[in-house]
Amino acid sequence: MKQISFSGLMTYIRCPEHYLFHYVLGVVKSPRKVFKHGFALHETLQYHFEQKKEDGNGLKLVEAQEFFVESFGNALEEYKQELEQARPFLTREYLSKERNIKVGDMIDTGLQGLETYFKRLNPYIEPDLVEASFAFAVRPNLELVGRIDMTDTKGVIHELKTTRVTPNTQDVRTDPQLAIYQVGYQSITGQASRGISKDFIVLSKNNSKIVRFRVVRPFIDKKTVLRNVATIMDAIQRNIFYCLHPADSWICSKEWCGYYKFHQELKRIGFPAFMAKYAGSPRKQTRRWRYKTRS
Ligand code: SF4
Repeated sequence: MKQISFSGLMTYIRCPEHYLFHYVLGVVKSPRKVFKHGFALHETLQYHFEQKKEDGNGLKLVEAQEFFVESFGNALEEYKQELEQARPFLTREYLSKERNIKVGDMIDTGLQGLETYFKRLNPYIEPDLVEASFAFAVRPNLELVGRIDMTDTKGVIHELKTTRVTPNTQDVRTDPQLAIYQVGYQSITGQASRGISKDFIVLSKNNSKIVRFRVVRPFIDKKTVLRNVATIMDAIQRNIFYCLHPADSWICSKEWCGYYKFHQELKRIGFPAFMAKYAGSPRKQTRRWRYKTRS
């Protein structure tokens, strides 16, 4: 049975080239402090939800804040190692942007974000499933595997996100991620979810807030989810990895994209030559990719 992970699938949806570099060629993911920060907040709230499910209370705010600071500290240690591994293929602009991000400010916003979450949202959520694994067949011999952040005892799926920019009228009904969670929920519990909530903690040093988008069910039904996932798998198997961003997109810039050098080389020499250079025999690959790991 072939499998595709939810994170791999979302990577392809956001950027097929990114999928090629990381999942096909095994180049390490570009380390970013902001990802480590998001990870530490996620880990803190996950631990809190697990505890709350057990004892009905979970962590106190101050405990959650201590947990976050420790988790972020550990993640930053990993970040340093990952940065050294990735340094040869990162641009000067990317490295300079990373250097200018202040860890102290990130800790302050994280602490504020947790305080806001505990005041505004925590009293209203009773966790049921926490980081629950799902797997469902997309078609014969192809399975999608992933995890749902959390569901509550009323059968509502919660996807918790942290952001620095207030999301505006984002329509969760067309979000493919949530549509997949809904199918995943059904595969775990045998029942349809009662609703889906995308809960954002908008981080700011002085004015963190919660923004939520809730719907009963997403626009995309199960049949469409399965068809889209199968189409993406077919595209991957046929080596279709186009850059789909507009030429002037900020995402495809030296500052933001950790794969910018590969992107430029792929554009310059073309796909066959690029693959011949980087996806040769396993021995050749090991020599070439000193900093290669698979996640
Ligand atoms: S430069 Fe653009 S298309 Fe290429 S990997 Fe980066 S984000 Fe994706």
